[in-house]
Amino acid sequence: VASPDNHSSKRYRNPELNDEIEKVVSSLKLNYEQLKHIMHCLEEEMNAGLSSETHKQATVKMFPSFVRHIPDGTERGQVLALDLGGTNFRVLSIKLRRNSHIELTSKIFLVPQSVMIGDGKRLFRHLAECLAEFMEKEHLSQSGICYPLGFTFSFPCKQESLASARLTTWTKGFSCAGVINEDVVKLLQDAIDEKGINVKCAALVNDTIGTLMACAYKEPATSIGLILGTGTNACYIEDLDKVGTWNGDHDEPKQVIINMEWGAFGDNGCLNHIRTKYDEEVDLSSINPGQQTFEKMISGMYMGEIVRLIILDLLQRELLFLGHRDTYGDYKTPIYNRGGFYTKFVSTVETDEGIKFSNTRRVLEDIGIRNPTFDDCVIVQHICRQVSKRAARLAGAGLAVLINRMGKPTVTIGVDGSLYRYHPRFKRNMERSMEGLVNKDLKFKFALSDDGSGKGAALVACVAAHNAPEVLT
Ligand code: BGC
Ligand code: MG
Repeated sequence: VASPDNHSSKRYRNPELNDEIEKVVSSLKLNYEQLKHIMHCLEEEMNAGLSSETHKQATVKMFPSFVRHIPDGTERGQVLALDLGGTNFRVLSIKLRRNSHIELTSKIFLVPQSVMIGDGKRLFRHLAECLAEFMEKEHLSQSGICYPLGFTFSFPCKQESLASARLTTWTKGFSCAGVINEDVVKLLQDAIDEKGINVKCAALVNDTIGTLMACAYKEPATSIGLILGTGTNACYIEDLDKVGTWNGDHDEPKQVIINMEWGAFGDNGCLNHIRTKYDEEVDLSSINPGQQTFEKMISGMYMGEIVRLIILDLLQRELLFLGHRDTYGDYKTPIYNRGGFYTKFVSTVETDEGIKFSNTRRVLEDIGIRNPTFDDCVIVQHICRQVSKRAARLAGAGLAVLINRMGKPTVTIGVDGSLYRYHPRFKRNMERSMEGLVNKDLKFKFALSDDGSGKGAALVACVAAHNAPEVLT
C-alpha cells in the first residue's frame, strides 16, 4: 500500500525547505496498519448501525433503502426524476425503452444559496417550480397523463418505505428550516400538488442507490454504489439477516440495498487519531461542526479547503510565496479567505507531470501569486497530492470493507461524482490502496455512471409505480 513518495530534498532548489514541509505532510500519511485499523473500526460502526439495539446511538446509520432488486431490463415507460444534493439541481425526463435503452433529457437549475439555507417550504416550492417549467418545455404538462417521479435526494434519510423518508440531518452546505424529521416525499408532493402539476413521487432514493441501480441496469455484477463528489457516501447489497433494523417483508431475494451514510464515520471520535489540525479547522468553520468527519477528509466540498489551510499555514510561516508580498508585507490573495482554493484547483495542479508546472503556475496566478518560484510550485503540488491521496486511501479502505464483507468473487462499483470524474489520480490511488486491502481472491472494478443518480431514481420509480405511461415518441 505504502507506495514510495518519490519526493526528496533534491526536488527543492532550497533544500532547507524539505524538513519543514515534510513535517506538515507526514501528518497526512496513512500506512497499511492504519488503513487496516480504520477498516476494522468502520466495520464495527456498520454493525452498530445495522443492529436495532445500537442503531440509535450509531454514527454510521446504515439506512435500509427499501430497494430490494436491481433492475432487470424489463422496465418500460416515461418517468421524471429530480436530482438534488450536489452542486447542481437537475430535472430529468427519462424514457425507458426496450433492450435496456434509455433516453434522457435534463435541465440544470440553480438552487440559490439563500434557498439552500432558507425555509424548507421555499426549497420544495422552488423544486416544484423548476419541475413545472421543465415539463412545459418538454411538452409533458398538457397531456392529462400522470407521470411517476423518482426523487434523488442526497442527504441522510431514515426511509420508512420507498416513498416516505425522514431527513435526519442536512449535509454539504444545505440547512433549510423545518425539514429535519419530516417526510421529504410528502413535502415535495405537497409542493407539486400546490403547483397543480400531474406528477406523483413514487420513490425517494439516495444518489448512491441511484448510481448503483443505473450501473446494475447495464452490468448486473454491480453491488456497490459510490459517490465522490461534493459529498461522499456508499451503498451496497446486504443480506437481510444482517439487517437488524429491517422491518419490511422477507421475500426473496433476502437482501436489501443499504445506504451507509459513511460520511458520518468518525463523528464519535474514532478517527481523531488521524485527523490533523487542518481537518479540525475545516470542521469548526463548517456549517455542521462535529458532523460528517469522514466526508470532510475526502469529498470535494472540503478538499480544496484543507489544501488552502495548509498553504496558508506555510505562507504564514514564511515557507511559501516569499517573493509576493507587497511593500507592507501583505499578500493580496484569496488564500486568506475561507473557500479561496477550489477543489478543482487540486485536480488542475495534479495534472502537471514533470517540472514545468504550467497548470500549477496558472492556478497560482489565478489566486494572485505572480511568478511563483519553482519551489512554490513543487510544494503546492506536493500538498495537493498528499491531501488527495489520503482521501483516496480512506475511500479505498471503506470500499475494501464492503468487498471483503460481501465476499463476491467479482464486484463492480458504480461510481459518480465530480471528484472521481475530474481528479487525475483519485481512481488510481484508490485502486492502489485497495489492492493491498481487498482479500486476494476477490476482484473488483469501477464503472463510471453517466447521469446515474437520476436514471437510477427513474428506474426505481418506474418499478414502484407499476404502470408508467408509455413512451409516446
Ligand atoms: C450525504 C449522502 C450523499 C453524499 C453524496 C452526503 O453528504 O449525507 O446522503 O449520498 O453526500 O452526495
Ligand atoms: Mg450528484
